[in-house]
Amino acid sequence: MTKQPIIDKARSEGRTILTEIESKQLIKQTGISVIDTRLATSREEAISISKQFGFPVVLKIASPDIVHKSDAGGVKLGLRTPSQVDKAYDDILGAITQKHPQAIIQGISVQKMARPGVEVIIGMSKDAQFGPVLMFGLGGILVEVLKDVSFRITPLTKRDAGEMIREIKAYPLLEGYRGQEPVDVSNLEEWLLKVSDFVDQNPEIKELDLNPIFAYSHGAVAVDARIILEAAH
Ligand code: ADP
Ligand code: MG
Repeated sequence: MTKQPIIDKARSEGRTILTEIESKQLIKQTGISVIDTRLATSREEAISISKQFGFPVVLKIASPDIVHKSDAGGVKLGLRTPSQVDKAYDDILGAITQKHPQAIIQGISVQKMARPGVEVIIGMSKDAQFGPVLMFGLGGILVEVLKDVSFRITPLTKRDAGEMIREIKAYPLLEGYRGQEPVDVSNLEEWLLKVSDFVDQNPEIKELDLNPIFAYSHGAVAVDARIILEAAH
């Protein structure tokens, strides 16, 4: 047993992969803001949660077997009406049952649509020698194709956090470009420190990804989260 009921539940089901909703619930404890997200287990529930959040909303597949949700046809963005939610619900389940017939489906996650921001990533993976290593980068192709990222081992110092953000090549994009407002870099520094504390306090976490975080001129919000646990001993 750990201090974390969410981790204990996954363990009791023999899982090491936490769903997006579970990962967001854990990360929220650190004070990092995550977009409001709730699990729906029926179409009616998806619509009623959407109305409570207010439109537009996002629907996503909630399954421990589907790690890359968009690739699987499991993400529908910018839904503006109950009938769009209704259709997205069917489309997601249709795509998943076709492409991943064996997947265990917990339901559909309904979330608020975040306003656009600069997409950044904070990640953690473990090095055999050094233990937890944090990663920072800008989202999308900058991370996937150009691998424009920085790394530091935990525990992070405030100075490490500042350097990690400033040493990526795309840093000028965070300082404001083409008349865009600069991003709240000190908030991102705080989040790196929070993730560093969090992973050091929860050694059963093997990997963590906040991908993407939408960064704004004031604050930021994580719209996707993924946590993988160490194999049970
Ligand atoms: P995955 O990484 O599993 O494919 P994501 O949850 O990251 O799925 O969603 C894919 C993309 O959709 C994100 O990179 C982001 O650009 C966008 N997105 C996801 N959730 C939201 C949201 N709540 N509000 C706005 N945009 C979102
Ligand atoms: Mg993602």
